[in-house]
Amino acid sequence: MSLMLSQKMVVLGKKRSEIREIFEYGKKRSREIGADKVFDFSIGNPNVPAPEFVKETIIDLLTNEDPTKIHGYTSAQGDLNVRRALADHMNSKYGTDVTADNFYLTAGAAASLSICCSALACPGDEFLTFAPYFPEYKVFVESAGAVLSVIPANTVNFQVDIEKFEKAINKNTKAVIINSPNNPSGAVYSADTIKKICSIMDKKTKEFGHVIYLISDEPYRELVYGEVEVPFLLNHYKNTFVCYSYSKSLSLPGDRIGYVLVSNEMEDGEDVYAAVCGAGRALGYVCAPSLFQHLIARCLGRTSDISVYSRNRDILYLALKEMGYECAKPDGAFYLFLKALEPDAEAFCEKAKKHELLLVPGDGFGCPGYVRISYCVKTEQIEASLPAFEKLAEDYKK
Ligand code: PLP
Repeated sequence: MSLMLSQKMVVLGKKRSEIREIFEYGKKRSREIGADKVFDFSIGNPNVPAPEFVKETIIDLLTNEDPTKIHGYTSAQGDLNVRRALADHMNSKYGTDVTADNFYLTAGAAASLSICCSALACPGDEFLTFAPYFPEYKVFVESAGAVLSVIPANTVNFQVDIEKFEKAINKNTKAVIINSPNNPSGAVYSADTIKKICSIMDKKTKEFGHVIYLISDEPYRELVYGEVEVPFLLNHYKNTFVCYSYSKSLSLPGDRIGYVLVSNEMEDGEDVYAAVCGAGRALGYVCAPSLFQHLIARCLGRTSDISVYSRNRDILYLALKEMGYECAKPDGAFYLFLKALEPDAEAFCEKAKKHELLLVPGDGFGCPGYVRISYCVKTEQIEASLPAFEKLAEDYKK
C-alpha cells in the first residue's frame, strides 16, 4: 500500500542530527571500552546539575500549592502572575518597560524560535543568520515556509562580518536571527557589533519600506566568563524578539521551559503578539509546562553553578593553545570552536575518533574547517582527554 506522508517530514525524521549520531556512537563506544576512556565532547547537555534551590522550590510547589494550579492548563501564553514576575524582573535588570503582555511562555528556545519563524514567515521571505549558527534554524525557518540564508563566518574573532551582512540583506529579508553567546563559537557579540547590525537593519528597513525583525536566540545569556557583558537587544532595536530558555542557565533542558519576549516598542505590537499566540496555537503548544512556569517565577535572576564551565574553558583553551591548536578564546556558552588540522573537518573528526575524542565538524554549523568541542562535561574528562588531543596533533606532524 502506498503511504501518503509528507515527504518533507519523512526526510526530516530520518536524517538524524549529526550531533546526535556522534553522541549515540559515544554511548556505544562507552559500553565497549568503558565510559572513562571515551572523551565525548559532542552534545550541549549541561553536566552541572540543576541547583538545590530548584529542587527545594519544586518540592515546595508540589507540597503547598493547589495541584490543579500546578498541574493544570494555564492561559495559552502562560500564567499571568508568572508573566508579571518575568516583566518586573526584566525591567529592573535591563531598564526596560515590558509588561506581562509582552511574554509568551514556551517549551524552551526551540519552541520560541519555531514560533517566531511561523509568526513572521510569508511566502518568498528570507531569514538571515550568521555562521556559525545553530543548525536547527534551517529546520524552523523552512518549516515556516521561508528560506534561511547564511552570512559566512568571520573566523578572525567570530564577531560578524558587517560588510557581508550589509550586502546580503535585501528586500525579501524578513528577519535576522542572531545567537550570542554563540553556539558553537563561544563568541559574545560586542556592543559595537550589535550597534552595527542594528544600524544596518534600521537603514534597510527605511530603504525597503518594511520592518526587518531581529530574533535574538539567547539560551546562553548568563553563561559568560570574566567581565564580558551581553548587550540586551531590546535596548538596541525596537522590532526585536528575545527567545530565551532555562535549559542552560538553570540546567533544565529536559523540563522544556523558556519564553518569547516581544519588544514593547514593536511596530504594530498587538498584531505581532497575536501572531506569536497564533503560531503557538498552530504548532500545538497548548501552554508551556505549568509546574516549570511557576518554578521559574521563583528563580528569577539565579543560575546553576556556572563557575565549572569557566574552569573547564580555561583548562581546555590553555592546553590546546600550548599544543599548537588554533582557536578563539570563548567568552561564553560552553563550546570551543577549534580550527581542524586539515581543511576537511569531517576527516579530522574521524582521526580524532581513533583517539576516542568525539568532536563535531563545523560543516553543519555553516563553518567548514572547524570543529566544536562541547565542554559542559566533568573537569576530570577534560584533564583526562588532553593526552589524546596531544596525540592527535602529533598525527599531523608526522
Ligand atoms: N538555540 C541554541 C543556540 C542552542 O544551542 C539550543 C540548544 O542547544 C537551542 C536554541 C534550543 O534550546 P532549548 O533546549 O531551550 O530548546
